[in-house]
Amino acid sequence: MGAVRGEMFLVPICRDPRIQQAVKRPITICFLDDEGRISGVELIEKAEIVCDVCGGRVAVTEEELKTLPMGYALCDDEQVYEVVCEDCRRRYYSGLKVYDNLDEALEVGRC
Ligand SMILES: [Zn+2]
Repeated sequence: MGAVRGEMFLVPICRDPRIQQAVKRPITICFLDDEGRISGVELIEKAEIVCDVCGGRVAVTEEELKTLPMGYALCDDEQVYEVVCEDCRRRYYSGLKVYDNLDEALEVGRC
């Protein structure tokens, strides 16, 4: 059974390329001038992915898993909200279901 519509769930980042892409998206920063108009936009590539709760670095590839704790994406069926590490997942999100990848989470009884 997949996730219910609107339900939050967790997916290990390294297991799903779409989630990897979502968490690695560059951060967009807009600069405003004194009148509140956008005067510049800067894209900041993320060098590493960190847990949004504790700030610790997490693994986003199978390779990184050898040295870093597993990173999970907190999502629902529409978007990725947060990145959490293994520790914080156990501590704060232990009630949420963990799927192996997005397909499993979204397959649902929707067909
Ligand atoms: Zn954490």
